[in-house]
Amino acid sequence: MLFPKICKRVKDIGTISSRQFQRRIRNKIELLNNSLPIATNFIKIQPSPQSNPIALLKSPDKQLHSTITNNNCSYIEPCDSNTTLNLTNKFHASISIDLIQQIRKWAVQFNVSHGCANEMLNILRNTGQEVPKDIRTILREHKAVRPISEIKNGSYLNLGICNIVQPHLLKQINNITNNIMIKLSFSIDGLPLGKNSKSQFWPILMSFINLTIFKKKIFPVGIFHSFNSKPGDINEYLGPFIHELNHILTYGIQINNKQINFEIAHIVADAPAKAFLLNVKNHNGYFSCTSCEVEGEYLDRICFLDLFAPLRTDNSFRLKTNAEYHKDGFSPLIDLPIDITKKKTNENVGGKKDSLSLALFKLRKSVPAEFARLPRSLDDVEYWKATEFREFLLYTGIIVLKSNIKKEQYNHLLILFVSVRILCSDNNFSTYYDLASKLLIEFVQSYSCIYGSKFVSYNVHSLIHLPFFVNLHGPLDNFNAFKYENYLQTLKKSMKCCRFPLAEILNKVLAFEGEELKTSLNNDSFIESFKIDKNLSNFRFTYYNKVTLKSNNYTLCCDNIKDQCIILENEDIVMIKNIYKLNSKNDKTTK
Ligand SMILES: [Zn+2]
Repeated sequence: MLFPKICKRVKDIGTISSRQFQRRIRNKIELLNNSLPIATNFIKIQPSPQSNPIALLKSPDKQLHSTITNNNCSYIEPCDSNTTLNLTNKFHASISIDLIQQIRKWAVQFNVSHGCANEMLNILRNTGQEVPKDIRTILREHKAVRPISEIKNGSYLNLGICNIVQPHLLKQINNITNNIMIKLSFSIDGLPLGKNSKSQFWPILMSFINLTIFKKKIFPVGIFHSFNSKPGDINEYLGPFIHELNHILTYGIQINNKQINFEIAHIVADAPAKAFLLNVKNHNGYFSCTSCEVEGEYLDRICFLDLFAPLRTDNSFRLKTNAEYHKDGFSPLIDLPIDITKKKTNENVGGKKDSLSLALFKLRKSVPAEFARLPRSLDDVEYWKATEFREFLLYTGIIVLKSNIKKEQYNHLLILFVSVRILCSDNNFSTYYDLASKLLIEFVQSYSCIYGSKFVSYNVHSLIHLPFFVNLHGPLDNFNAFKYENYLQTLKKSMKCCRFPLAEILNKVLAFEGEELKTSLNNDSFIESFKIDKNLSNFRFTYYNKVTLKSNNYTLCCDNIKDQCIILENEDIVMIKNIYKLNSKNDKTTK
């Protein structure tokens, strides 16, 4: 019986301050206003005898159920006692559910600590709200099933491919055609959890690369954790994942009578992770190139000078024809229906340091909003993220290096710049593929002349194999690791305590997934916009000073030169002075 409880709370009002009292009443009125459409089925609303509901409620001995309603000076009069009970229960249920959903969203969105959230719940309880004492009740963390098993060197959390993707596919089932073939991309890599410990995750992440509705979605399907090292047994680590993956590759998934099929597009991993997954020698071994059978030479480090060694094939890998390349045992990846030598890739770009920092710093004011990070000093190069190396290679490096390095070195760098530009281009990579291949061979060949043979390391040598992978998987950005890196950093930042990392990460993943499934898609062409001034907008046009386009995530801004310039299809460069949208006749409230 909720009704008596409410009456009791009203009686306690005498013990609180007048400001607290008024705040409580305002909250109540606001919540009841939100719930009003439900309540009108049960009640009749009549004009209030008093113009101000707050004034009415200042008398604590008035019965709350008979007075509170919206701030348009109405009051609720019960039809009969049964209706009153229904009404109160209905109100109460809608208030609690709405409030609890909002608290859950807030806690997940801002990654609020349990201590902070519990304190907030305590405050709400003190002000009369019916909320649980512990945030874990709201997040439903205690109900999480924990499919965690102990394996060599640590523990493995098997989230499962079907468990994770099915709710998302179900939600979007109307946007998915029957018998579709979804191309799967995977990323497997280590993620250190702290600077002062060896604690680390090894997540297996997945994404769909040919469904635009899931363009940015990352699905975590399994996570290994160890306090001191990587997984001790590759077969034990990948076993459950490979088993389930083989099953869905063979049978697909049926949702609402729609058959959904899957195939593997690629697996993204850096050099150490790739060697681990393939169960081969590390990238500093004599035969460590995973694309060709080049034998390295030791010149202070292992260098790879032969650019035309025979390529590795799926057959040669499975038969272990190059014994020096393999470790004992087999990689579990050979159980997958893929060409082992073609389904893996890595991306690694180097940089140089010196007095270029100032030139880079000057560019900061010209870097548009689409870049995740502004250029920073080369003194910090060891802390640069992969996205900063990409920005340097494709955009800023070519500008700042021109007057800061020798002409020979600059011209050499231009070869790399042009070839990587081609391989990144959606429109030109297939047309200029041969040119890019020749340029990259020329770049690596002349690298030893300019910098010395001992610098032709694994990463430099690997550049000659890039065109091969681009030919298979499309432009470089189709299979880079940035979206996975972003997801890993989000997971890492969400960690609050390191006592039970896998249990904690499971709760975080479930909370993220739950919130994403509740979020509806925004079909507006603008995903974010800022009106310039209401007074300037009229019934025909709405003016903006800044918009972000949903189609490509580009930001356009009228009053900031770095986001003001665009290039048209005819290659004219123009500056945007005004942005406006024509209002439709039926709907004048545009976003
Ligand atoms: Zn090679």
